[in-house]
Amino acid sequence: MSAASIPSRNPGRRRGDRSTIRATASTGQVVAVVVAMLVAGIVVLVYQYVLLRQAQLDEARVQAGIIADNVTAPLMFGDRDAAAEMLRPLRYASDLVSATVDDAEGRRFVGFAPQRSREPGALAALLPGTADAVRVSAPVEYRGRRIGKVDLVVSTAGVRAAMLHYMAFLALTVAGAVALVIPILRRTRTRVAQAERELDALAHTDTVTGLANRRATYLRLEQEMALPHGVFALLLIDLDNFKTVNDTAGHAAGDELLRSVAKSIGDVVGDAGLVGRIGGDEFAVIVTPVAQRQAALDVAHGIVRALSVPIVLEHGEVLATASIGMCMYPDDAASATELVSSADTALYRAKHGGRNQVVDFRPEMTLAAQRRACIERELRKAIASGALDVHYQPQFESGGRRIVGVEALVRWHHPELGAVPPAEFIPVAEETGMIVALGNWVLRRACRDAAGWRRAGLPAPSVAVNVSARQMREPAFVADVLQALADSGLPAAQLELELTESMLMERVETAIAFMQQMRAAGIRLSIDDFGTGYSSLAYLQAFPINQLKIDRSFVRLLPHGGEATARAIIALARGFGLTVLAEGVEDRAQLDWLHGAGCEYVQGFLLGRPMPAGALASLLAAQMDGPQAAPACAGAEDR
Ligand code: C2E
Ligand code: CA
Ligand code: CA
Repeated sequence: MSAASIPSRNPGRRRGDRSTIRATASTGQVVAVVVAMLVAGIVVLVYQYVLLRQAQLDEARVQAGIIADNVTAPLMFGDRDAAAEMLRPLRYASDLVSATVDDAEGRRFVGFAPQRSREPGALAALLPGTADAVRVSAPVEYRGRRIGKVDLVVSTAGVRAAMLHYMAFLALTVAGAVALVIPILRRTRTRVAQAERELDALAHTDTVTGLANRRATYLRLEQEMALPHGVFALLLIDLDNFKTVNDTAGHAAGDELLRSVAKSIGDVVGDAGLVGRIGGDEFAVIVTPVAQRQAALDVAHGIVRALSVPIVLEHGEVLATASIGMCMYPDDAASATELVSSADTALYRAKHGGRNQVVDFRPEMTLAAQRRACIERELRKAIASGALDVHYQPQFESGGRRIVGVEALVRWHHPELGAVPPAEFIPVAEETGMIVALGNWVLRRACRDAAGWRRAGLPAPSVAVNVSARQMREPAFVADVLQALADSGLPAAQLELELTESMLMERVETAIAFMQQMRAAGIRLSIDDFGTGYSSLAYLQAFPINQLKIDRSFVRLLPHGGEATARAIIALARGFGLTVLAEGVEDRAQLDWLHGAGCEYVQGFLLGRPMPAGALASLLAAQMDGPQAAPACAGAEDR
């Protein structure tokens, strides 16, 4: 499915217009060449005619002059025979019509007409002084006295015959030139057309896959929208792990993958629409015409299925699954921009809802997308202006009320949006990379607060800070952590970093190196949300960690559900020599069960909600008076 053949819904029309213009242009060129040659030829002819006439006149004048000299004596002596004899050589003058010699009184002395002019009517037809003949006179003088006159009438037929020859020659030349120019023009025209076609194809084709490129795809979108009663679907397709292939196997493999994906998509779509590549690993399909939404969805699902099969590349097999966002015209959008934006919103959902799936656009998604854009914009400002806050949730020994640690949790109270939950803005921060600045700010703030409690003589708990995968990938992250400790004066042993299974499994080697550096510095490490990811036991053994945090989703089910999982995690931790902390403990029964099962530490609303640093300091101060005095469920702000 090449761009040259598909992007335009009516490719013949534009090309037809162009060839008509080109044909008109070349006919014009030929006419111009002919006219130019004719004009030049006519100028030459006129010039030639003037020259010939002049030469004929000059020659006739010379002849008249010679005759005038020769007939002087016969005229003086009245010898007509001698005069006639003088005129006889004129029989060789081809143009001569008549030659006459008159005496001083104007009487005809002698006349001569060559044989051919004596045919009846010939003399009469050639009226001297017209275009057909000219008269040339020469006086006959003797010693300055005029004794007669010689008149020669010369026919211009010869000149005209010569002119006719010239004209015929000119016509032949023009015809020859035209015959020569037309094929040259035609050949040039063909070459220009070919070059134009190639340029046109280049401007509309993606060089890697041969599909319609972004420009051609959008052009076609607009053409479809311009059709009366046009109903069609737009699918935006994004490959789920193209970057990994490109990064690990190289760009050649990436291109090979793109070509293979393009072919798979093309096979599914067939004649049902246009396939274009609109970005690095982004494809678009215009399914047209499609009356039923379900028909377009079927095409989309067909593509997802086709791409769920591993693709064999030169360097090995890869799985290039795709996420697809779909929307319909005119149901979901009124303009091309809106249409692309709607499909993009659906695609975003597909990507963030687990990938390898199709998401059909719904109007409420736009609101969500707008909210997300607003969050991104406002969060950027909040990070820059330091408008975020950190709250601390206490962590306890399961059997007592002593605070052993706190978890630092970022808080954002927006003047108009109100309190925005971390579950909403942390993913945005992660996607946009803002998490690096945000996380660093939380880390520094947590170290400073914890060091402050210590300096205030409070029983100092360790402070746990959540780390995101993106932060860990930052080359400067290790240095940032050490710097935060150094700047705050917090002992390394009092800092704990919470990592998730999925981020550790993403790049195991890098993760292990990072963890070893942290442990070497004396920092504690725990695995957050344990049990929700897929960590392999082999890796768990290789990870230099201190603690597992049982995810809230398991704790919530206790004590009449999820016991097996909780018990398994506790046993696992014990086996690896790790401590266990259960998070999300909301009621007494859960706490009792966890304590009974051997879970050392707990964290949850039952014992303490996340609270501002000041509230936590008061709690720590109260604890100094005796652990039993510390009130459970403190931290009203986060309720
Ligand atoms: P998390 O790391 O699993 O944090 C624990 C979450 O559970 C917190 O939600 C906390 O308020 C909530 N929680 C604690 N005890 C209970 C309970 O008994 N019941 C219920 N229903 N919830 C409880 P929060 O503060 O909304 O944070 C949500 C997530 O946002 C965190 O999950 C963490 O993944 C992320 N997050 C928060 N602060 C940061 C941060 O500074 N950096 C990073 N990277 N992520 C953060
Ligand atoms: Ca956490
Ligand atoms: Ca957690």
